[in-house]
Amino acid sequence: MSAKKIVKVDDIKNDAEGIKCPVEKSHFLIDKFLDGPMCGKCFPCSMGSYEARVLLENLMKGECNETQLLHIKNIADEMLIASMCKKGKDVAKYIIEWFDADVFRKHLDGICTENTCKPLIEYRIIPEKCTMCGDCLPACKYNAIHGEKIKPFTSGYHPFDIKQHKCVKCGDCLPVCPTGAIILVDANVSEAVEV
Ligand code: SF4
Ligand code: SF4
Ligand code: SF4
Repeated sequence: MSAKKIVKVDDIKNDAEGIKCPVEKSHFLIDKFLDGPMCGKCFPCSMGSYEARVLLENLMKGECNETQLLHIKNIADEMLIASMCKKGKDVAKYIIEWFDADVFRKHLDGICTENTCKPLIEYRIIPEKCTMCGDCLPACKYNAIHGEKIKPFTSGYHPFDIKQHKCVKCGDCLPVCPTGAIILVDANVSEAVEV
């Protein structure tokens, strides 16, 4: 069995600095806390952290309800009061600091305001803007883009499209498209139109 990694809460906070979405940021902190410095000696911190991680995971997928959303804040409030050591309190303070009810609530509607929670976003191709140049094909390491480059005197092409089940949402294709035909949209938008 591998030994549990011990890192400092401050180090995890530093690692979380580059994450823009407050929900994702909070989830990252809790996840790494559980993976390292959380020792499990006291109930409010250990159970609270596990529960908050599940709720935040669900929220990142848009699969939470209002009651569960408010429960994330309640967990953090209880952790702040009842955690036995500074580590648990620091994690609680961090979640409280980043808990923005409006931004968190948007996730209930399937919208990540920073467009970073992967289950809530999709990369798509706008057919009207696609010139079938094929520049995006080598940019995708996951073979998620399908389509045929246009050739002179030939017709009946397969239009360019992103296969969502293969797309890992890395964003590598976005900057290579010369016409801006590849866009990032809310996953719950049915058509590939710019938002
Ligand atoms: S608050 Fe401190 S003592 Fe309690 S479980 Fe968390 S890390 Fe351990
Ligand atoms: S976002 Fe990444 S995985 Fe998805 S189509 Fe673009 S390059 Fe491929
Ligand atoms: S790079 Fe853009 S215009 Fe060219 S095939 Fe891909 S989506 Fe279409």
